[in-house]
Amino acid sequence: MHIATEGLVLREQDIGDNDRLITILSRDLGVIRAYASGVKSIKSKRDSGTCLLSFSSFMLHKKNDHYRVNEAVCKHFFMEAGNDLFVLSIAQYFCELAELLCPKESPADTFLRLMLNSLYFLTEGKRDLFQIKAITELRICTVSGYCPDLIGCSSCGAFEKNLMYFNPNDGSLLCQDCSERNGFQLNRTVLSAMRHIIYSEFNRLYAFEIPSEDSKYLSEITERYLLYQTEHHFKTLDFFHSL
Ligand SMILES: [Zn+2]
Repeated sequence: MHIATEGLVLREQDIGDNDRLITILSRDLGVIRAYASGVKSIKSKRDSGTCLLSFSSFMLHKKNDHYRVNEAVCKHFFMEAGNDLFVLSIAQYFCELAELLCPKESPADTFLRLMLNSLYFLTEGKRDLFQIKAITELRICTVSGYCPDLIGCSSCGAFEKNLMYFNPNDGSLLCQDCSERNGFQLNRTVLSAMRHIIYSEFNRLYAFEIPSEDSKYLSEITERYLLYQTEHHFKTLDFFHSL
């Protein structure tokens, strides 16, 4: 069976001198692994389209539950020569997140849009790096079934007080009067940023600005929340923190 789809290469693994096993976040099939042979021969058109962080259009062939890449044409490559290690480490972390949390063998358009937009803003340097990290972490949690409840205080229902407290274990919110001051303290800026990331329409997702000290704190919160919810150890995140 032949399948045409588009996708982002999340992982590449060389096999022998000339072949490659790639993991793709594809629009129509979600996360799949596909075998690409002969990718490193000089004339291979499949080569650039099967590299890590390539967004490519693919022609795949499926046989006995295995996918083979017949053709891969790169449409955008998210690894610009000028990107620093900091940016590249976050890009690879996004790939690890996607591989874990995106649907497998089923359509994944929402996830692919999130990844492509986050990588675009990240590699173009158009937004604060910690803000992009926080948006990606919290939004991917939200769309994959780990959505926190930030509508109001889980005890008295208050929508907003000067300070609210977020519990990353269960994703709940308490106001300053109901909380015993556990969890992350949220000022109005950070709380409204978190609400924006969770509840906004996708086309408005990246359209907010917060001071850089708030975005760094926000990224600590979203990271902790994601780690609690997924109970997963991300090697790429360790690398980012080691820089
Ligand atoms: Zn309350």
